[in-house]
Amino acid sequence: MSENAISAQGVGRVYASDSGAVQALRDVSFELRRGQFVALRGRSGSGKTTLLNCLGGLDSPTSGQIKIHGKDISTLDEAARTQWRRQRIGFVFQQMGLLPSFSAYENLDVMARLGGLPRRERRQSIHECLELVGLLDYHDHRPYEMSGGQQQRIAIARALVTAPDLILADEPSSELDSETTHEIMGVLKTFVRERGVSILLSSHDPIVSEYVDRTLTLRDGQLMGAGEAPA
Ligand code: ADP
Ligand code: MG
Repeated sequence: MSENAISAQGVGRVYASDSGAVQALRDVSFELRRGQFVALRGRSGSGKTTLLNCLGGLDSPTSGQIKIHGKDISTLDEAARTQWRRQRIGFVFQQMGLLPSFSAYENLDVMARLGGLPRRERRQSIHECLELVGLLDYHDHRPYEMSGGQQQRIAIARALVTAPDLILADEPSSELDSETTHEIMGVLKTFVRERGVSILLSSHDPIVSEYVDRTLTLRDGQLMGAGEAPA
């Protein structure tokens, strides 16, 4: 079995737009080993979101190949890919997308149901994930009854609830103060160490560098090479 959580080979993504084609990614190749915590850096517009969306099957590259745990997801049809994504990938977005009229518990439960977890496992996993982000006491709070940092922790707990092997996080700390960012990064690092998940997290926050094993940097859709100093 492949030791790589992610293997990207010559990945390109061209967007067609009114003003012509936009090459958002060009010839992106890298590997992310299982259990690695990797930061994806780069200015706004460098292609971070496009890459994360392609890796998680929310978007498709126009060239190249992506394998996640050895599987080429472009071979799956739409329905199979959606199901695969819900079970195997945890997404954390900048806009957290919590359901406002649902409690923290219910927000996690929605994701657990979509991921196909049976009832008893759902309850146990929700409990564990809320505990992991330190918000078990907030299980019946709605998003507006929590701080921004607490909401982002709920969004992380939600991404973990199906016990995914790979977590893709798109600027999860951009709305947070530095203290809360440390808190969030600590939670993610614990998850990597204790459960062996792999994380690719985009950010331009220097704090992130203190927590990750390695950094990838995108510039105008091209990878600058592993472990390079941030742009
Ligand atoms: P980042 O997340 O690093 O800010 P993006 O992946 O969002 O970068 O964008 C990379 C490039 O692709 C930018 O030039 C952006 O304008 C362009 N782009 C992103 N999404 C679209 C889209 N849906 N249609 C056309 N161009 C897009
Ligand atoms: Mg982005």
